[in-house]
Amino acid sequence: MTQATGHGAELAGLPPVDGKSNKRVLILGAGIAGLTAAYELGKLGFDCVVLEPRDIPGGRSMTIRKGDKITETTGHSQTCKFDEGQYYNPGPSRFPQWHVTMDYCRELGVEIQPFVNLNENAFYYGEGDIGPMAGKRHRIREVKTDLRGYTAELLAKVADDELLDTELSESDKEALIDFLHYEGGLSGSANEYKGHNRRGYKVWPGGGLQEGELDDPYQFSELLQSGFGNLFHRANEYQYQSQMFTPKGGMDKIPMALAEKVKDKIVYGAQVKEIRRTNPGARVVYTVDGADQEITGDYCICTIPPTILRRLQTDFSPMLKNTLNIVPFQNSGKIGMQFKRRFWEEDDRIFGGLSWTNLPIGEVWYPSSGFLDKKGVMGGYYVFGPMSDQLGRMSPEERTEFALSNGEKIHPQYRDEFENAFSVNWATIPHIEGCLAHFPQAMLKTFYPLLIKPEGELYLAASWASHLGGWQAGAFEAARIAVKNIHERTMAS
Ligand SMILES: Cc1cc2nc3c(=O)[nH]c(=O)nc-3n(C[C@H](O)[C@H](O)[C@H](O)COP(=O)(O)OP(=O)(O)OC[C@H]3O[C@@H](n4cnc5c(N)ncnc54)[C@H](O)[C@@H]3O)c2cc1C
Repeated sequence: MTQATGHGAELAGLPPVDGKSNKRVLILGAGIAGLTAAYELGKLGFDCVVLEPRDIPGGRSMTIRKGDKITETTGHSQTCKFDEGQYYNPGPSRFPQWHVTMDYCRELGVEIQPFVNLNENAFYYGEGDIGPMAGKRHRIREVKTDLRGYTAELLAKVADDELLDTELSESDKEALIDFLHYEGGLSGSANEYKGHNRRGYKVWPGGGLQEGELDDPYQFSELLQSGFGNLFHRANEYQYQSQMFTPKGGMDKIPMALAEKVKDKIVYGAQVKEIRRTNPGARVVYTVDGADQEITGDYCICTIPPTILRRLQTDFSPMLKNTLNIVPFQNSGKIGMQFKRRFWEEDDRIFGGLSWTNLPIGEVWYPSSGFLDKKGVMGGYYVFGPMSDQLGRMSPEERTEFALSNGEKIHPQYRDEFENAFSVNWATIPHIEGCLAHFPQAMLKTFYPLLIKPEGELYLAASWASHLGGWQAGAFEAARIAVKNIHERTMAS
C-alpha cells in the first residue's frame, strides 16, 4: 500500500509475524476501521476475529438500494422503493484525492468515478433578511463572477489611487492591477467591472447569427447583502477541493471489497456487550441469537461507536470512560429522492454538484452518475445538529414532505416529478447512533489523546478517534496505526 503523503502509519514492507506465536486479535465492529484492521493484520500473519451485530459489513459506509429495509430505534421503518439500479449513499458519498481511501480503492480494485462537488451551474437560494436577491434562485457562476469582479474593481481602484503606496512598489502595483483585471474580468483604464461572459449568457452563443445575449450583472450591494459569497469557501476547504471521487455503484463497494478479503474472519449477528482486559490480553462477551458467548484474544481493537460503547460493560480506566462520555458524536440526516425525470439535467442543465441554501434543508445534491438517464436519485437535504434531531423525530413521510416543500422553492418541478424517498437519521440507526465527531480545539489537546492511547492490549480505532472524524480516511488511518503498533509489540515480544 502506497501511503498518501504525511498521513497515518506506513505498513508497506513490515515483515509478517510468522515466526512469532500465533497472536489473536479481537476486532469489534465491521465498519471501515474494523475491516481494515482485519485485512492489514491478516496480511501480517495475525489471527483475527471480527464481531459485528448487523448482517452486513460497512457500518456507516452504507448504500441504499431497492428492497433495503431499516427500522430506526424510534420504530420508524422504511423499505427502499427506488428502481433497480438506482441508489443513494446516506452516509459517506465522496472523498478527496489525497485521502488514503483512494489507495484502498486501487488495492481492492474498487472502481471510482469523479464526484462533482462544485458545479457552478447549480444554484444559491436564500430567504429572509438577505436583501433583494431573496426568494429567487441564482446560478453560482453568476454570483461568483460578479462578486469577484466588483471586489477586484474596488481593490484595483484603491491600488490606482496610490493608497497602497506604502504597501507595494510601483511595479508590484502594476502587476496587482494586471492580476485584478484577469481575476475580476475588469475593463478599461478606470478598472471597472461591468459584467462578463464568465457569468454565462441569457441567450448562449450558437450557430448562424446567434452571437449570444448577455444578462446584466447583479448589483454589488445586493450581492453583499445576500451573503452568498460566504458560501464560496465550502468547495475550497482542504477536504472538499477538486478532485473528489466516489465508487461507481455506491459507497458500500469499499467495505464490500474489504469484507470479501476477510470473509472467513467475520462473525455476523454478534453483538458485543462486555469488554474486559485480562492483563495481558482481552476477553469479550457477545450475544449471538440471544445466547452469550465469550472469546479471548492477545489484543483487542474496538471500533464500536462511542454512543454505544459508553453503555457497554467495560473495565476501561475511569479517565477513558469519562472521555468516551464526552466524545461529541453528533447527529446528521440525509434523504435520497427518486424522481421520474432528471429535470435538473433536462430543464436546468445541472449535471452533478450541489445547490446551497439557507432553507433548513441545507443542500440539494445532484447525482454524479447516470448522467442523461431517465430517472435519478437526488439528495433532498443534508443537515446536522438540532435540525437533524428535529427531522429524526418526524416520520419518514413527514421528512419527505419537509424535503419537498423546501426543495420545490429551488426546483418547482419537485412535486410533479417525485416518485419516492428514503431518509436516514443517523442518531437512530441501530448499532451506529450518530454521524461523526469533530473535537473542539480544547478537547484535541486534553481528552482526545486519551482516546487514541492504548490501554494495555486494548485499542480504540475508528474515525471518531482520528483527526478525520467525518471521513472514512479517519477510520482507515486509525486502524492502520493500531495495526502498526500491535505489529511492533508482537515483533518485540
Ligand atoms: C452522514 C454522513 C456523511 C459522511 N460523509 C462522508 C464522506 O462524504 N466521505 C467519507 O469518506 N466519509 C464520510 N462519512 C464518515 C464515514 O462514514 C465514517 O468516518 C466511517 O465510515 C466510519 O467507519 P468506522 O469503522 O470508524 O465506524 P462505523 O462505520 O461506525 O463502524 C462501527 C461498527 O461497529 C459496529 N457495532 C456497533 N455496536 C456494536 C457492538 N455492540 N458489538 C460489535 N460491533 C458493534 C457497527 O455495526 C459498525 O459496523 C460520513 C458519515 C456520515 C454518517
